[in-house]
Amino acid sequence: MERIHQLAAHMPEDMDAILIDGAYNRLYYTGMHSSAGTLVVTRDEAYFIIDFRYIEVAKNTVKGCEVILQKKLYEQLSEIFKKHGIRRLGIEETKTMDEYLTLKEKLPEVEVMLDRRIGNLIAKQRRIKEPCELESIRRAQDYTDRAFSHICEFIQPGRTEKEIALELEFYARRLGAEGASFEYIVVAGPNGSLPHGHPSDRPVEKGDFITMDFGCLADGYCSDMTRTVAVGEPGEEKRKVYETVLQANLSAMAAIRAGVPCKEIDKVARDIIANAGYGDCFGHGLGHSVGLEIHESPRFSYTSDEICEAGLIMTDEPGIYLEGRFGVRIEDMVYVTEDGCINLTKSDKNLIVL
Ligand code: ZN
Ligand code: ZN
Repeated sequence: MERIHQLAAHMPEDMDAILIDGAYNRLYYTGMHSSAGTLVVTRDEAYFIIDFRYIEVAKNTVKGCEVILQKKLYEQLSEIFKKHGIRRLGIEETKTMDEYLTLKEKLPEVEVMLDRRIGNLIAKQRRIKEPCELESIRRAQDYTDRAFSHICEFIQPGRTEKEIALELEFYARRLGAEGASFEYIVVAGPNGSLPHGHPSDRPVEKGDFITMDFGCLADGYCSDMTRTVAVGEPGEEKRKVYETVLQANLSAMAAIRAGVPCKEIDKVARDIIANAGYGDCFGHGLGHSVGLEIHESPRFSYTSDEICEAGLIMTDEPGIYLEGRFGVRIEDMVYVTEDGCINLTKSDKNLIVL
């Protein structure tokens, strides 16, 4: 597979092989879902050692490496190391201390190199989406948009946040989504001021804003969207807050393109919210990258030192949260290009009053 070759081609010079067994990285390089399995990438060849539960699928689908049935993992790894003269082994820095120590104990013939270089190399490769990855994310977002249209019909006073969250997920899965890309956030009325609040048993009331942050999985790829809707006429203050968040979302989106520092894009939205008098009420970053994981790097944040690149999938999600009263967040997911971005989120974001 091209991805494995690319990794081998960029291997640091002082390493002879890379061992990958983190779940998302394994999925990225092998293209198959599994709860176990070890990929070893040397400069000339790659091996995927996987147990009996997955061996049939692996043999039929995994390309670009030799698929080996796992028997005694460390002995099999030692054999590969001997064959290729591997002395220094790079690993992912996301390993637990226990996993790191086990590798060192079981593979005394190699120097296990624990630093951030492998993680950085893989992250750099994973962040730029290939056309097939973009296609999967578009499909995940399509389920999400359709679930949103459905939920606008479902919401009415008396339904609880939990019921709305369940209906969103159930409907998306009926459409074909593999699952939820994260635990859904459905918060209404005073709970709306909790950016990552948990759906409760509180029934929705007339006059509430409901913020729904949700997404689906397609081919293992995530979508991520937030919409805030009103149940009954929300009143002047809520409308003003909503319009401010919408302006922040739109203006930031107009600023997104390759070459712009991520913190400048964050600032566009932050300035609009601050100028409207809500500077203290937007306490999180503007957005994050999305892929196999829901939160990936880079981020649109005032602390980011990264530059926006073509091929990134990023969210644009400003919010205003008024403690104990209500909150508004609007989140779209975009594909960054050389001269702008393509909004993958199709749901209406003008205020919907149900
Ligand atoms: Zn979200
Ligand atoms: Zn998000």
